[in-house]
Amino acid sequence: MRNLLLFVLFLIGLFYVRRALRRGAGGRGGAAGSRADGGGAAAEDSRRVLDAEQMVACAHCGLHVPESESVRGSGEFFCSDEHRRLGVRR
Ligand SMILES: [Zn+2]
Repeated sequence: MRNLLLFVLFLIGLFYVRRALRRGAGGRGGAAGSRADGGGAAAEDSRRVLDAEQMVACAHCGLHVPESESVRGSGEFFCSDEHRRLGVRR
């Protein structure tokens, strides 16, 4: 009975690991085999890098903001609409 419980827990763990790997690495198979320490950690690191958004510096004040939250104007990135209006400060 205890072995069955452990087996079910193992299956649940496997399911989560496979789902996480599929989401990150674009459906790369062999999750059960490559789960061992080194490879798994490396895959997780590269996934974090891919997930991390590119930071851009405001051309006016130098503040770093995620690219999706930045305001673009005249080929530069700005942290806010006001700084875009104020323009580039050298
Ligand atoms: Zn700014």
